[in-house]
Amino acid sequence: MLITVKREKDTFIVESFVPARCATKPYHVILFLDKNLRLKKTACDCNTPFCTHSLRLYNHFIAEIGKGKIKLPMD
Ligand SMILES: [Zn+2]
Repeated sequence: MLITVKREKDTFIVESFVPARCATKPYHVILFLDKNLRLKKTACDCNTPFCTHSLRLYNHFIAEIGKGKIKLPMD
């Protein structure tokens, strides 16, 4: 799962395509996190806030941060 991370002021914007069991195409998921990496808002093709796709990406993102595989963009 390729993840891109951008930063806008105090918000981290995490974006990826999450494979979906119920659809043939992966879902485009965008997460908005505060500077403590708490999930503030989500956007997903399935149009459900805080859906399973968003949470799957969030858990994956946090694990990758923990392993040092993803670096957060800082000023
Ligand atoms: Zn979704």
